[in-house]
Amino acid sequence: MERDIYDEDHEAFRDLVRDFVKRHVTNADRERWDANGEVDRDTMKAAAEAGILGLSVPEEFGGGGMLQDYRFRAVVNEEIIAAGAGSLAGAFGIQDDLAVPYLVHMGTPEQQAKWLPRMATAEVVGALAMTEPGAGSDLRGIRTTAKKVDGGYLVNGAKTFISSGATADVVVTFVKTGEGNRPDAFSIVLVEDGAPGFEHGKKLEKIGFHGHDTAELSFTDVFVPDENLLGGEEGHGFVQLMRNLPLERLSIGVAGVAAAQAALDWTLAYVREREAFGSRIADFQNTRFQLADVAATVDALWAYIDRAMRAYANGELSAEEAAKVKFWTTEREWEVLDACLQLFGGYGYILEYPIARAFADARVHRIYGGSNEIMRDIVSRALVGKR
Ligand SMILES: Cc1cc2nc3c(=O)[nH]c(=O)nc-3n(C[C@H](O)[C@H](O)[C@H](O)COP(=O)(O)OP(=O)(O)OC[C@H]3O[C@@H](n4cnc5c(N)ncnc54)[C@H](O)[C@@H]3O)c2cc1C
Repeated sequence: MERDIYDEDHEAFRDLVRDFVKRHVTNADRERWDANGEVDRDTMKAAAEAGILGLSVPEEFGGGGMLQDYRFRAVVNEEIIAAGAGSLAGAFGIQDDLAVPYLVHMGTPEQQAKWLPRMATAEVVGALAMTEPGAGSDLRGIRTTAKKVDGGYLVNGAKTFISSGATADVVVTFVKTGEGNRPDAFSIVLVEDGAPGFEHGKKLEKIGFHGHDTAELSFTDVFVPDENLLGGEEGHGFVQLMRNLPLERLSIGVAGVAAAQAALDWTLAYVREREAFGSRIADFQNTRFQLADVAATVDALWAYIDRAMRAYANGELSAEEAAKVKFWTTEREWEVLDACLQLFGGYGYILEYPIARAFADARVHRIYGGSNEIMRDIVSRALVGKR
């Protein structure tokens, strides 16, 4: 089905992204990121230079000024995921959809001036650290504290599963500054790489996204100056988190739909070529029906996610709607990837094939950004309340 959310600016931008992909997203690049467990900084800088990273940084700070209009980010996701480089799309997403928005929406003018120009060029890469070994879904259970001392805070605790956590220069860190678990007990601080007591732990070995680092972080009496308290006021951490969640969830949905589309395209090409029993795999009725189902699902996914992008652009994507979008799109993505992989037979299980990598990458879409069970909880609370 024809999509109608892009205009000629987006299509011109798509050409730019394709050109970047041609030059910087070769098999050799992808293999290097996978072997190193991270995307190298030169690639991030080249993307920023080409104008496809740093899209969410306001123009006055040297970025693309597209934070409220997700369509350009969607084009980046589509093209990079279609090139089989989910890890690169993930690394871009952490910068543009997670780290930068906290500074744009909640940073003081001084914080914005300090960080955003360098985030626009990828000289500075950011990460967002909420999850801890003992608290993921239940973020009010975090134990990392930031204790007020003269001129700043002393941060103690540990975070885990932090995307870009091994390579980040600045970590937007969710901490406790008060007692108990009321919303105003939490704040966000910007922890800088190199601060004494701040350690980037080992890169975690994952089943997917091999080329994007995910790490543990530890904080032992890390001094964070007052000027690094996000927004300059204590007790706003929860509200700040809530402010950005719809974008985070929309972004996961878009990546999921882009992966579903890519899987369909790879599979169509494959089943036309591969033969068994003297005919193309494409000629078996099962293949044809599976593909018909997948194609209809992918159309529905675009229709839904495009509508969500519009709602976001108009400031109308509520927490409940974003939760719905996140869980529904990523559940369908999973079904699509599974059906497509099956049509590749054994090759679908081999990581050399993009379908295998995309399948492994897709699994975490149902877990992070708020698990899909938590998403359903949010939606059902809005529907029927909760005693
Ligand atoms: C590759 C990867 C990258 C990540 N990147 C980041 C990052 O950059 N920053 C960051 O802060 N975090 C990140 N995370 C963490 C991620 O957001 C959490 O793993 C996720 O929120 C789930 O938390 P948990 O792992 O502690 O699971 P738990 O909260 O322990 O949940 C375990 C299971 O119980 C279910 N469950 C929990 N509570 C309920 C409930 N109330 N009702 C029903 N079911 C429930 C969950 O859905 C899940 O199935 C990442 C995780 C991974 C794997």
